[in-house]
Amino acid sequence: MEVKNKPHKPLIYYYVVVVVLLLLFNFLAMPWFAQRQIREVDYGTFMSMMEKKEIGEVEIESNQILFTDKENTAIYKTGIVYDPGLTDRLYESGAAFSGEIVETTSPLLSILLYWILPMAIFIGLGQFMSKRMTEQMGGGNFMAFGKGKSGAKIYVRSADGIRFDDVAGEDEAKENLKEIVDYLHNPDKYKEIGASMPKGILLVGPPGTGKTMLAKAVAGEANVPFFSISGSEFVEMFVGMGASKVRDLFSQAKEKAPCIVFIDEIDTIGKKRDGQVGGNDEREQTLNQLLTEMDGFEGNAGVVILAATNRPEALDPALTRPGRFDRRVPVELPDLKGREEILKVHAKKVKIADDVDYSKIARMASGASGAELANIVNEAALRAVRDGRGFAAQSDLEESVEVVIAGYQKKNAILTDHEKKIVAYHEIGHALVAAAQTDSAPVQKITIVPRTSGALGYTMQVEEGNHYLMSKEEIENKIATYTGGRAAEEIVFGSVTTGAANDIEQATRLARAMITRYGMSEDFGMVAMETVTNQYLGGDTSLSCSAQTQAEIDRQVVALVKKQYEKAVSILTDKRDKLDMAAKVLYERETITGEEFMKIFDQS
Ligand code: ADP
Repeated sequence: MEVKNKPHKPLIYYYVVVVVLLLLFNFLAMPWFAQRQIREVDYGTFMSMMEKKEIGEVEIESNQILFTDKENTAIYKTGIVYDPGLTDRLYESGAAFSGEIVETTSPLLSILLYWILPMAIFIGLGQFMSKRMTEQMGGGNFMAFGKGKSGAKIYVRSADGIRFDDVAGEDEAKENLKEIVDYLHNPDKYKEIGASMPKGILLVGPPGTGKTMLAKAVAGEANVPFFSISGSEFVEMFVGMGASKVRDLFSQAKEKAPCIVFIDEIDTIGKKRDGQVGGNDEREQTLNQLLTEMDGFEGNAGVVILAATNRPEALDPALTRPGRFDRRVPVELPDLKGREEILKVHAKKVKIADDVDYSKIARMASGASGAELANIVNEAALRAVRDGRGFAAQSDLEESVEVVIAGYQKKNAILTDHEKKIVAYHEIGHALVAAAQTDSAPVQKITIVPRTSGALGYTMQVEEGNHYLMSKEEIENKIATYTGGRAAEEIVFGSVTTGAANDIEQATRLARAMITRYGMSEDFGMVAMETVTNQYLGGDTSLSCSAQTQAEIDRQVVALVKKQYEKAVSILTDKRDKLDMAAKVLYERETITGEEFMKIFDQS
């Protein structure tokens, strides 16, 4: 009961404040205003004005005389002095005797004006506010956005809420979450057998893979209220504020049960407590409160907590233990089929040509997240509008994949003739080495149009299907392909440029991973020298070996890349005529397709 009354408390305060304000206004401010309008003068001024016949109206009261000037612009007041014949002289001066210089409104009217009317206005306002508040608490039958004290965005599902069908791919995650929906629909089935639902479910995966969407879809399918808050919203400047927000969120959620509470970016509050003196007290208190609240309700209370993070390794173990977030649902980057489905889901929202080959776009956008794919479709639609077309076509989608990967085309980047030639040879170098080796992804497109990302040109290779494993040979070939650009420069021009910086980085990273993580070096065998610390955010690694081993790793990495570079040089020297031919065509046309390139490659 107490909890139910909570939202009305502020309204009572509101009414009390209004009444106090009205009292102050009517008893202090009003008389003061009235006083201010009357000017007090001495009796001499009154007499001289009377002699000069400047008095308009006059009213003689028992203790004062009120009078106005001829133009009636101001009211004056003076005291009573014994003055026989005053009335006669006033009469002679032409003053009019009045009974009501200071207008007194009828008592009934003044009560109405000063008391009833303001009260009615304030009560009306109060009622309106209270109605709004009730709606925001989720009382309505419609989508009502708003914020409670906890700051959680609360809304009751509307008819057009997100469904599982809107989330493409991610079948495993959906399968997992369907159980929750079933439980929210039919809790008795679970209670009967004595099973309790997981209290918390942790959605982990890289950014933009649809974690928020999935949480909303669960609420949408289950037709229950959905509370959404970001972890960062709990973090306040003052110690204890975040904890009070957590308490409030849970008390609201329990009231609205069955419901779903979604905490985005939970790592902001759920980070491991490091135990250092003078640590982040506020964050730790908030986390402790969250742990306590999660313990505080029964598994079958009907409140399901979903949380999303892309740093699961940073979470406090107390948070991820059974009984709290006891289920972990991975939401990974979509595979080829997933990417195709996501593209199709988003393509439904824009006007798009019927003959679009989604599978090809999905293959081009390998490694893209759901959010990036949604962006690709939107970019394509924007491009169509820019070109004055009514719908997006295949070419728009292909161009937007490149925009997402490499940035926009740089229209005014002016390369000198010689530079352009170097870039053409560099790119053909990559393509030739890739084509000459087995197990390399086919070349899709080669271009030397500079991009805003800083790339002066690039060779796009597109895998045919899904690729989950990579053999040692494949990685070596990949390294050789990366070095192909620089090799071509050296063979043709006898000097090297800065253009290979990105290739060098990529080749080194692959070579390093082969040795330190994939166990592909003979000396070290299956020993991990590096561990990935940040799986979903860039995959940073940390070394875990002695200084001597580090030196040995460095030596082996250099040797590995060098060997592949030599392989690339030998391939290109061997096919020098094709290198020249293809580079010439690319120099002239600036962009050639994979087929055009392969035609030159296959010429004998
Ligand atoms: P996350 O919470 O994992 O960072 P979101 O759920 O906020 O990602 O997704 C961002 C956007 O990306 C969504 O609004 C949606 O347009 C798109 N998106 C991501 N994954 C998918 C998917 N599997 N199906 C359809 N759209 C997706």
